[in-house]
Amino acid sequence: MTEEKHKAEYDYSFEYISKKLEGKKDSYGMLMKEIVRTGICTECGTCAAVCNVLEWDHVLSQPKLVGKCTGCGICYNQCPRTITDPIELMGEFRTGYVAHTNIPEIIGGQDGGTVVSLLCYLFDEHLIDAAIVTVKNPDKPWYPIAKIITSKKEAIESAGSIYAHSQTVEALMDAIRSDYRSIAFVGTPCNINAVDKMMNSPHGMLKYFMRANVLKIGLFCMDSFSPETLYAKFEKDGLDLTKIVKMDINKGKFHLYEDSNREAIKSYTIASLHKYKSSSCNFCIDLTSENADISIGSVGSGPKKNTVFSRTGIGTEIIEDAAKKGYITIEPFKEINLDSILFLAKLKKVTQYNIQKRKVFIVRDGDVKGKKEIVESGPISEKAKELMGTRKALSLTKELNEKTKILKIILTNSVGFVIENITARITLVENVFEKNPWIASINELFPYESLEIDYPVEKLEGTVLVEASSDEYGKIFSRSIKFGPEEKK
Ligand SMILES: Cc1cc2nc3c(=O)[nH]c(=O)nc-3n(C[C@H](O)[C@H](O)[C@H](O)COP(=O)(O)OP(=O)(O)OC[C@H]3O[C@@H](n4cnc5c(N)ncnc54)[C@H](O)[C@@H]3O)c2cc1C
Ligand code: SF4
Ligand code: SF4
Ligand code: SF4
Repeated sequence: MTEEKHKAEYDYSFEYISKKLEGKKDSYGMLMKEIVRTGICTECGTCAAVCNVLEWDHVLSQPKLVGKCTGCGICYNQCPRTITDPIELMGEFRTGYVAHTNIPEIIGGQDGGTVVSLLCYLFDEHLIDAAIVTVKNPDKPWYPIAKIITSKKEAIESAGSIYAHSQTVEALMDAIRSDYRSIAFVGTPCNINAVDKMMNSPHGMLKYFMRANVLKIGLFCMDSFSPETLYAKFEKDGLDLTKIVKMDINKGKFHLYEDSNREAIKSYTIASLHKYKSSSCNFCIDLTSENADISIGSVGSGPKKNTVFSRTGIGTEIIEDAAKKGYITIEPFKEINLDSILFLAKLKKVTQYNIQKRKVFIVRDGDVKGKKEIVESGPISEKAKELMGTRKALSLTKELNEKTKILKIILTNSVGFVIENITARITLVENVFEKNPWIASINELFPYESLEIDYPVEKLEGTVLVEASSDEYGKIFSRSIKFGPEEKK
């Protein structure tokens, strides 16, 4: 075969495979955001090797787009650092179902009522003698309390989700100490992981308890909140928590109901409640209770239904027998909208790469006299241009708080290496005169790390000049930014 012919055929097969792999919604932008900008790229060059419009930038040691990206996602899906395999995203499982309860008292519960229905089945069949559930504290509305229950009636009373951490393991240990032998444990992924570790790790305590068999029923979980601060906010917003009968998180919103068969009386976007989120949840990577025997959630199935994964032999037996005996109705795996689960699972998994980066807060440097010349005036230095080409060393975002008259300026290192000994200067510009200069020095700014500067402004509109120099490259950044009502439009 001539070299040319060989190449033609090779090109054809490359194109063919590329076409076959197209269609995923992952893109070059996601690769940059999740992998390159977080600093976890291994510089293997795979992304550039598989795409005709990506090249390896040997100066910045990162992929560079040199043509039009179609968003085919091929680069993203080859990268060794992205998490794309369903098993990596959701853990091992045997099979999945869409399920809902057939028990009339449970219909209208949290989602499909599958968790409570399985508890009812387990009690009726004498497969458990106790279960650990979480119920509302009668003395403090909507605060969770973990509880040992021993009957079907109590299981039905435990229906519903409370979006806060519950000390379920404490109740489990009390149940074991009280000599219950076969216990169903219902918990969020973090609860399940605690029990799994106690049962399976070399130093795990439950490994040494021959008396207790624990069946782990895990809930899906994206976030939980600090009740002290979240409920205070709800009350400040005029909500009476004693009248709320259901809380539900659905499609990015937190809904509160006074009657679960009617519209929510109040809904918040989850983003607006971010500051009330329990801090641990920002570092959580398990959406689907990967270490449970049975995992149950709502995402991936329709309203009033559950998505269920059986992960162990006993888990599968229980679900199928409960369905056979009429406690629940199950639909096959293909009814699950797996893409929506994988999407959320990925959001959680990438948090491990976005662990809060060090932020540098600048305070006003009192002695600015004589320091102005530290930041050279004039254009970006030739040395910086040579190194960075058309890229900017720093990127800038701003936000004006009209109440406090503080202009927050965030400067982020947008090149893939540490810049050392930076001096930044911010000053108001009025009629070509500079006013109220702030100067600060920083020893090192890591890739994609941010400097946050709270700069006070007297008026609610105007212009500030932001400049930065480094000892090594000279002037690296200079931008005038307008703030105020004009900017908002
Ligand atoms: C903090 C939290 C966050 C969640 N986030 C998601 C999500 O993002 N996506 C998703 O699909 N599903 C999520 N879920 C699961 C969802 O809310 C339902 O629990 C699940 O779909 C089972 O529905 P069901 O109708 O079978 O529940 P039910 O049959 O009503 O049973 C619910 C069971 O959960 C227990 N429970 C309630 N609150 C807690 C708690 N704080 N800790 C431990 N156990 C508790 C109750 O004791 C009860 O046994 C979350 C649940 C919690 C508690
Ligand atoms: S066109 Fe290239 S850069 Fe864009 S998503 Fe596809 S593989 Fe990645
Ligand atoms: S494939 Fe991933 S790890 Fe490799 S160079 Fe590209 S972004 Fe970096
Ligand atoms: S997000 Fe994670 S840490 Fe937070 S409650 Fe859910 S499982 Fe626990």
